[in-house]
Amino acid sequence: MQNSRPDYGETTGLLYDLAMQKYGIAAQTVVLCEECSEVIKAASKLLRYGKQGRQDLVEAFAEEIADAEIMMEQLERYYGIERDTIEQYKFAKRCRLKTSIDGDSNGVPDGETKED
Ligand SMILES: [Mg+2]
Repeated sequence: MQNSRPDYGETTGLLYDLAMQKYGIAAQTVVLCEECSEVIKAASKLLRYGKQGRQDLVEAFAEEIADAEIMMEQLERYYGIERDTIEQYKFAKRCRLKTSIDGDSNGVPDGETKED
């Protein structure tokens, strides 16, 4: 895997740059915090009411995840965080999760290698 910007395309990257220029890092960081809180609220509602017959809550959760991811991508771009860095952290954390689930000393999730 080679180093790269997040894989959302140049048009989206330009959009994120324009948003950052217009609103600034402080405002965009506040919006990220707000969107993360909306993810928490949507997850909480799903836990409280369950998903049976509540596709509206599942959709709301998906929408809030999208909002939060968009803000994370903007800050990721602003701070020059490489996609590979995030993927490496995610891989390591999935390995830790697998280890905690099944006590596997290898810790590599099924279908992945340490080189992914
Ligand atoms: Mg939202």
